[in-house]
Amino acid sequence: GQAPAELDAYWMPFTANRQFKAAPRLLVRAEGMYYHDVDDRPILDGAAGLWCCNAGHARPRIVQAIQQQAATLDFAPPFQMGSPLPFVLAQRLAALAPASLNHVFFTNSGSEAVDTAMKIALAYHRLRGEGHRTRFIGREKAYHGVGFGGMSIGGLPNNRKTFGPLLPGSDFLRHTLDLERNAFSPGLPRHGAELAEDLERLIALHDASTIAAVFVEPIAGSAGVILPAPGYLQRLREICDQHGILLVFDEVITGFGRVGHAFAAQRFGVTPDLLTLAKGLTNGAVPMGAVLASDAIHGAFMQGPTAAIEFFHGYTYSGHPLACAAALAALDTYAEEHLFERALELGDYWQERLHSLRGLPHVVDIRNFGLIGAVELMPRKDAPGARGYEVFERSFRDGQLLVRCTGDVIALSPPLILERSHIDRIVDVLGEMIRATG
Ligand code: PMP
Repeated sequence: GQAPAELDAYWMPFTANRQFKAAPRLLVRAEGMYYHDVDDRPILDGAAGLWCCNAGHARPRIVQAIQQQAATLDFAPPFQMGSPLPFVLAQRLAALAPASLNHVFFTNSGSEAVDTAMKIALAYHRLRGEGHRTRFIGREKAYHGVGFGGMSIGGLPNNRKTFGPLLPGSDFLRHTLDLERNAFSPGLPRHGAELAEDLERLIALHDASTIAAVFVEPIAGSAGVILPAPGYLQRLREICDQHGILLVFDEVITGFGRVGHAFAAQRFGVTPDLLTLAKGLTNGAVPMGAVLASDAIHGAFMQGPTAAIEFFHGYTYSGHPLACAAALAALDTYAEEHLFERALELGDYWQERLHSLRGLPHVVDIRNFGLIGAVELMPRKDAPGARGYEVFERSFRDGQLLVRCTGDVIALSPPLILERSHIDRIVDVLGEMIRATG
């Protein structure tokens, strides 16, 4: 199931950024909970592809919607005209989102959604006569995509180190991992208030009136599935409100049912001013991202004759008909199969089984919430990341796809259609591979 050696160098994502040290593995088909490789070997998907395919693969309703749309209207220019589809989809998303988030800007990816949210934040402040608000704050343990905006506010060193100078004026909430580890107690970590005070420290350092927005993933995904302590997001909301700073939730991973609600904002009871989405929006079937904006932000944009001119932004493929058709069918599938609720129903079993890995060699933390999870391994002294890589690689060889995060964290993010037997297999294989890795 590997890429032919003579073709190996042609495709840059593989040659420049490969997860496997050996030749790339090729997946050629997928259905439900399984991928199949070129040898037709089934591979259980414990990753929803890459935190995307929340309803599993090749769902007929989504497939048909894409096929039909491609044959009916393949493309419509998104400026001054368009198709009916993005309007309908925007209304559906507004209905799913917290009450004040009723306005949608469509992008083609999570990275574009993050950059778009940053530009909306800057334009919003400018339209209100607060153009001095140009700084952004992100979390040190955060991933917000690979655009220059997202790189600048995402703290993971590997994503930043080769590309500076990045956006000036960004800074990070520097939470230590020790505070964020659950140390085997299931549920959310403690210390929420302490973590939030870090924001006050940064605000004091930078002058609150220069800060445009604070970006957080409600649950940090790629940084290792880091859960918010109770009260942490609420406190961030309060501090932002107090200083006129916008709060942005990056829900590219947590959106569309992963935590048992449409959005983590609802699960944690905190409403941001802007919310970024991608991945599960189309169930991974067609590239699409989006930014949800509050009534207050939309109001500022619609006031005065110059508002639209102040915000020159958009993509050729904004609201692409195929992506909209896929997204509408994905939302129908999520609703019909009650998949968001399913993440809640299975949550206890997921937690119980994941925490059964406690006590295995090198396991230093286990985190879970909804149907997301992570097992953190102790790094080898001389080779940080190697142990995590090995477990990931062995699991794949054994027919199971997981997500390898930074460091030695193995993340789990299965399609929400999974059965208890799939949970058993995911956890059993993972345990076996951790034991075998040593
Ligand atoms: N934000 C978050 C929270 C993400 O997890 C990701 C992707 N893993 C992105 C943004 C970037 O999305 P994309 O890869 O679609 O650009």
